Amino acid sequence: MVDTETLKRLENPMRIIPHWIGGKATEGGSTRHSAVYNPATGEQQADVLLASTADVDDAVLAAATAFESWSQASLSTRTGILFTFRELVRGRAQQLAEVISDEHGKVVVDALGEVQRGLEVVEFACGIPSLLKGEYSDQASTGVDVFSFRQPLGVVAGITPFNFPIMVPMWMHPVAIACGNTFVLKPSERDPGVSQLVAQLWAEAGLPDGVFNVVNGDKKAVDDLLDHPDVAAVSFVGSTPIARYIHERGTANGKRVQALGGAKNHAIILPDADIDFAADHLVAAAFGSAGERCMAISAVIAVGPAGAELLPALTKKARALKVGPGRDPNSEMGPVITSSARDRIISLVGTAEQQGARLPIDGRGLRIPGHESGFFVGPTVIDQVTPEMDVYREEVFGPVLSVMRSESVDDALALINANPYGNGTAIFTSSGAAARRFQREVRVGMIGINVPIPVPMAYYSFGGWKDSLFGQSHIHGREGVAFYTRAKVVTSRWPQREHASGASYSFPTAR
Ligand code: NAD
Repeated sequence: MVDTETLKRLENPMRIIPHWIGGKATEGGSTRHSAVYNPATGEQQADVLLASTADVDDAVLAAATAFESWSQASLSTRTGILFTFRELVRGRAQQLAEVISDEHGKVVVDALGEVQRGLEVVEFACGIPSLLKGEYSDQASTGVDVFSFRQPLGVVAGITPFNFPIMVPMWMHPVAIACGNTFVLKPSERDPGVSQLVAQLWAEAGLPDGVFNVVNGDKKAVDDLLDHPDVAAVSFVGSTPIARYIHERGTANGKRVQALGGAKNHAIILPDADIDFAADHLVAAAFGSAGERCMAISAVIAVGPAGAELLPALTKKARALKVGPGRDPNSEMGPVITSSARDRIISLVGTAEQQGARLPIDGRGLRIPGHESGFFVGPTVIDQVTPEMDVYREEVFGPVLSVMRSESVDDALALINANPYGNGTAIFTSSGAAARRFQREVRVGMIGINVPIPVPMAYYSFGGWKDSLFGQSHIHGREGVAFYTRAKVVTSRWPQREHASGASYSFPTAR
């Protein structure tokens, strides 16, 4: 018998975004779904299915079955598929970027940048034969050699946020798959469309069915993955409360977990900095992608006299920013992801004003002609922000830049180090000594020197400190390879009669 939820769905003319399990798109047995909006128009454009426990079980089973043969595939077979996948993603970059823009809201060139940064991880993973090379010690003891190598874990899951719907999953699956694992992705339910295209490209590249799977869903699907006995490891990227939860529940279930959380990224501006250069880069770092980047600069600390020159430069550049739909080539900044995100950001700006901050630029009233129902918030600069204000204490995740002042570099450093987050930070200065001191003393994982968004290249690892990361391992780079594999060390002897010595009952030592 067809239940009422299923009937409602069948009658729904809305495009359905399905799962991808065992090499094909499937609607599974879900009866729940969630609206996917076009943030530029405010209209619903699709319905994404929300996986049931049975759907998650199907995806994990497909991945576990595929692991049996994929884990045996040669390095040449794996890299051959990775190189083809890289070419396919490159060839479809524009199409992928347009899907991202339509669901996330970011401007198409920014989405293309995200595709490029994801591709760099695929390129890194193409080098997996070098990355997986083990160690070898000849003649560790007489006639005894010791060597190490690494093997895949099994089925690994990726749970990802809305703000980089292709790049963040690509921090995970190319490396995991290159290492010989099979993968179940649970993308954000707010912009899940591009993951279907990625799955199709993997299939086109020749990846065997079941190696890469997508289950769409919400907390229920996440919990089912965290509790599933056949999921060996979980990579998570998202907000801090959920990262903490994922880490606790996943590790309690015996899984290997890396959980990257939220951020409050500061930039400090010293009086010796090129202020115009700094303002230009800070505005881009604060308002690019409407501030919905985990590495966005959200608080600027102007040291000493720097503030007097910086604030007018910032406001002039922020005012000139062109806000509009992501598909409009003239737009430099698009809308935020949902109406509730917009309302939350607007409310935090209001609270800052009530708490005594000044608003040299207030984006709350922005209306884009023809897109009045879009989820737009204009660039907002808040001056005289203090550490007690809600706008500083919370992760705003919108186009809002807080300006703070400090008397000295010591005070600025102390402020950053006291913040519970430690994802990214930047210093603007012309002093090598000041920069070196900053890079050594700041308690943050990724640091920019005259670089506002210091996202590491794929061949370095990405990760924050403090409440921006739960678990030991950063993502991609060598730490990613280590996360998705485990080591074996072999001690071997091939006895020859003439060298044979008797076994000893004492603990073996090298001789
Ligand atoms: P989010 O934490 O709301 O969601 C992330 C994922 O968790 C999604 O797949 C979502 O479906 C799932 N989820 C949400 N609530 C859950 C719950 N109660 N139980 C289990 N799973 C749940 O994050 P978001 O709003 O999609 O993304 C923005 C956040 O991600 C920001 O905090 C941002 O700083 C952070 N982020 C961090 C990094 C990083 O590298 N540290 C990178 C990108 C984004």
